[in-house]
Amino acid sequence: MSTIIDGKALAEKKRAAVADEARAFAQRYGRSPGLAVVLVGNDPASSIYVRNKKNDCALSGIASFDHTMDERITQSELLSLIQKLNADKTVDGILVQLPLPAHLNAQEVLLAISPDKDVDGFHPYNMGRLLTGEPTLVPCTPAGVMAMLHEYDVPIKGMDAVVVGRSNIVGKPMALLLMMEHATVTICHSRTRELERKIGQADIVVAAIGKAEMIKGHWIKPGAVVIDVGMNRTGQGLKGDVEYTEASARASLITPVPGGVGPMTRAMLLENTLAAAQRHVKQPITAPPS
Ligand code: NDP
Repeated sequence: MSTIIDGKALAEKKRAAVADEARAFAQRYGRSPGLAVVLVGNDPASSIYVRNKKNDCALSGIASFDHTMDERITQSELLSLIQKLNADKTVDGILVQLPLPAHLNAQEVLLAISPDKDVDGFHPYNMGRLLTGEPTLVPCTPAGVMAMLHEYDVPIKGMDAVVVGRSNIVGKPMALLLMMEHATVTICHSRTRELERKIGQADIVVAAIGKAEMIKGHWIKPGAVVIDVGMNRTGQGLKGDVEYTEASARASLITPVPGGVGPMTRAMLLENTLAAAQRHVKQPITAPPS
């Protein structure tokens, strides 16, 4: 039987640590670290995510600035908002909640965010830093996974890790972070052959697919560590990408869904915002050329 990785408890510990540092920051610099949250339209799931993020900020001593925009906003109006936030010295981080409505070009919007305020870590500059082994702001979900592996003293060096999923926000940065810590990483995706065999050889499995219980429990190597990033709404509630009950009979450590990776993603956003703020007070913010 495996040990459950308690993402909720670790996230709470991280949030409390951010709150302590944010308090010290405010005392020293006369302002709180600030996060601008941009939401376009009223997609119910996005609205919940944004509300949670704002609550997290309130609990952590981070000022959140709400920018809920009409869904008919034009690309150029949205870009000017981003430029304004880039130049605003009270804003350390800018989060644009995705997905954006179809008429907007999300890539162009993300590119417009000043890399030093890109607390989601999606800007090509920050991705490039990660690729070259000098990470600055790292995407929150894979950063949260690494924090869990560290907290539970999971050996990474020399281990065989399989990451299923190659998205820019989870799979790719996840693989890079594991490789930076000397794991031997295999990245799998929808065209991968013999997925079961590959997973069966892994010491660490990270599933980021978006298909409920696609990875079967009996595929897991006995003693492996299983990190389930997937969040799939089903008739039986929220499910991960891994068949949980069967996998937990074989894994040494496993994350539950919910209560695993999700809370850690939120906690890492707070850490990234604090880190951006600490960098800003050392390095005054300069507005990028428009
Ligand atoms: P994407 O849809 O962007 O990527 C999914 C990846 O899974 C793709 O690379 C795709 O391959 C791969 N895939 C799809 N089907 C298969 C298959 N049959 N076999 C192997 N690989 C497959 O999703 P995200 O990376 O954004 O998110 C993945 C999951 O993680 C989702 O459930 C999402 O909700 C969840 N998530 C959870 C977060 C959290 O905080 N807990 C945060 C972010 C995401 P290909 O590239 O070939 O299409």
